[in-house]
Amino acid sequence: MLLIGNGRLVTRDNGRYIENGAVAIEGNLIVETGTTSELKRSYPKAEWIDADGGVIMPGLVNTHNHIYSAFARGLSIKGYNPHDFNDILEGMWWKIDRLLTKENDRLSAYAVYIDCIKNGVTTVFDHHASYYDIPGSLDTLADAAKELGVRTSLCYEVSDRDGAEKMQQAVLENARMIQRAATDESDMLKGMMGLHAAFTLSDETLALCKKHVPSTTGFHVHVAEGPGDQIDSLKKYGKRIVERLFETGVLGEKTLAIHCVHVSPAEMALLRETDTMVVHNPESNMGNAVGCGPVIRLFAEGILLGLGTDGYTNDMIESYKVGNIIHKHNLCDPTVAWAEIPAMLFENNPRIAGRFFNRPLGVLKAGAYADVIVTDYDPLTPMDGGNVNGHILFGMNGRSVVTTVCNGKVLMKDRKVLVADEKAVMQACRESSARLWQTING
Ligand SMILES: [Zn+2]
Repeated sequence: MLLIGNGRLVTRDNGRYIENGAVAIEGNLIVETGTTSELKRSYPKAEWIDADGGVIMPGLVNTHNHIYSAFARGLSIKGYNPHDFNDILEGMWWKIDRLLTKENDRLSAYAVYIDCIKNGVTTVFDHHASYYDIPGSLDTLADAAKELGVRTSLCYEVSDRDGAEKMQQAVLENARMIQRAATDESDMLKGMMGLHAAFTLSDETLALCKKHVPSTTGFHVHVAEGPGDQIDSLKKYGKRIVERLFETGVLGEKTLAIHCVHVSPAEMALLRETDTMVVHNPESNMGNAVGCGPVIRLFAEGILLGLGTDGYTNDMIESYKVGNIIHKHNLCDPTVAWAEIPAMLFENNPRIAGRFFNRPLGVLKAGAYADVIVTDYDPLTPMDGGNVNGHILFGMNGRSVVTTVCNGKVLMKDRKVLVADEKAVMQACRESSARLWQTING
């Protein structure tokens, strides 16, 4: 039994907020929330974590990330001078993923999952690419997540860009991971069918992917990220991307459509009718200069819209901050995004996860998974159940998180990661990434 208390308890359970609250954990589940004094009386023998007046809240969920992008930090590629998003893919990401070894994958996974723990992110939906060495690469990620105790969904990005053999290997890699996850009783691991994007996928490839997806899961695919994806679809197939994905059976309630920056009203209607989930990645969209998607409209349409980071950061609060301002700026309307972005992060990301994982996430209530974080935030203005999000938005960031618990296990306490030798991992990452950089520029 574990008791985390003496903090401002943000339960995300119908707005319930307790000024001096606590959460009681038994095994991997939450058994009770209440005031600190109540729960201390009820569980006098429980192991005690003192939040020291900070904020206790549910672990965060990231619905789109790329572990494989980790070793790009600080990298400068000879002759790389992109003019558009396509140049960024070809000159940077595809160049890197074609050289990634298992060792690179393993260490990137350790580094990213550790960073997630440090940012209070306890569930990560990842989209992986490592075209140099495909078979078994998802297992490498899954093993790292398991060792570190982070909940994760994995997939491999199928693409025709490196030929038929690699494409087939990628499809089978997804199929294998879907199967492994289906037999994993811990409910900490899920598999999806990863797809790169419509413009690197033929109809035949999509049909092959479709054959390998059981009804228990769906696709994780980039959709209309840059304008080029949409132009390619119209040119080659005479139809828009979402229409094509609908006809090839990719859409549905278990499918994550990432970005959807360049979608028409008819495509939005198709996403809604098929109950397809969409994930917004504000920093990535700005950084790649692909445009600002119709996120506020997609939200109003009732599409289940989540918030991701696309490898830009592992800090979901940073993504929240950028999501909060990009739409105000884009629409010249200071009233938008106050409600939508926090709803995406704190309500919809857990709902998205809930379509795959068996018990509630993102909420502190009896029966939910014990994914709990503590931040060291001390509000300088009155804080209550009604203005929690304003405090998080302007007062916290990922580094405010001091303690992270996932599935009932304490992964970080007082900023110290307990499940890995962080310094040794970073040293190994620096050596491994230096070798990768040498190969890239060699
Ligand atoms: Zn992405």
